[in-house]
Amino acid sequence: MNQRYPAAECALHYTDPFTLVIAVLLSAQTTDKAVNLVTPTLFERWPTPADMAAAPVAEVAEIIHRLGFYKTKSRHVVECAQKIVADFDGSVPRTMDELTTLPGVGRKTANIVLNNAFGIVEGIAVDTHVFRIATRLGLTRAATPAAAEKDLLEIIPHELWGPVNHQWVLFGREICDARKPHCDECPLLDLCPSAFKVSGNPKPHRSRKSTGSAASTARKSSASRKSSKRAASTKSAPKSQV
Ligand code: SF4
Repeated sequence: MNQRYPAAECALHYTDPFTLVIAVLLSAQTTDKAVNLVTPTLFERWPTPADMAAAPVAEVAEIIHRLGFYKTKSRHVVECAQKIVADFDGSVPRTMDELTTLPGVGRKTANIVLNNAFGIVEGIAVDTHVFRIATRLGLTRAATPAAAEKDLLEIIPHELWGPVNHQWVLFGREICDARKPHCDECPLLDLCPSAFKVSGNPKPHRSRKSTGSAASTARKSSASRKSSKRAASTKSAPKSQV
């Protein structure tokens, strides 16, 4: 993914942590493109948490009405701004625990905000693309994105967590499409247990090599990293501890 998408970044338009929180909150169940069409008007009218906290929900709803679940989202936008003003002195908080107290903000949104606004990598933002790809690759059997995140954090090295969301979103759009994955063009074909098995998948033109699954490869490299770390710490530990 690093080779294919070296410069993957957030496709939502934002100017500061607050506008990012609101943009990500609005992006649930809709496209980033649709969100980018409504946020310029929204942020021009109510640019700060204090401004948005005083916005009438009905007027916010009018501006974002083309987005799915706009009624709930407009309420969350205003309540989120009100909580930022009331509990965090008007500034978006910088911890997972605090961020997830904001209305409409779950772990996925908090991960994106921490990573993109503050450069803090605490987890992997598991959205619909990441969840689907991880499941197809056999990296998780979890029933929910939150549980899938735990599995991914176990097998993906920490230094790769940051770009996972943006890279996998692009990969999901270009190759591992929800309805019609392009397995023939997929660089992970030889590792993927779901290759050519998803309904709507075109017939294979390429044959798979048997190189082991993505899950076993990831787990082997995770185990090997852990064992190298253990070996290094044993080497450097004082004799009395060996
Ligand atoms: S082989 Fe097919 S199902 Fe598997 S990751 Fe690639 S596109 Fe998705």
